[in-house]
Amino acid sequence: MLNEKLVKSLNEQLNMELEAGHNYLSMAAYLEYRSYEGFANFFMEQAKEEFSHGMRIYNYLNDRGVKAVYSALPTPPNDFDSVLDVFKKALAHEKVVTKSIHNLADIAYEVKDHATISFLNWFIDEQVEEEAVFDTHIEYIARIKHDENALFIYEQELGKRKFSAE
Ligand code: MG
Repeated sequence: MLNEKLVKSLNEQLNMELEAGHNYLSMAAYLEYRSYEGFANFFMEQAKEEFSHGMRIYNYLNDRGVKAVYSALPTPPNDFDSVLDVFKKALAHEKVVTKSIHNLADIAYEVKDHATISFLNWFIDEQVEEEAVFDTHIEYIARIKHDENALFIYEQELGKRKFSAE
């Protein structure tokens, strides 16, 4: 049986992944409204990815004989200053998620739950990847932000993104 504190934290993490997805949908809505369709697509696909992260935890809880519990999601940020601002806020949120996963891993170590430690390793690696991706986009967009033509070309690339769960 899973440790009670671990169950609570895994459920919180599940909801946090859905919250991240909710935030990305809101970012996509802003970008779509500003007619940045490629960037909007990027965030729509990112939202799907977050949903799949949530479902990974949902499946894990079920595998361990625990019921997943959903909670209300906070209202996401709905307004942004620019494309760059959106990406910066996305990275800031991913950093919060990383911290939360590390805390979760600390608890798993504390209670010596080796299966959960192993399960969380995927998330720890994934967060390194997520932060690196946003960091790179921020660097590029900051570099070209006053050049609408370059931004357009960059956006076309992100418009091709299609998420598929492994
Ligand atoms: Mg995630």
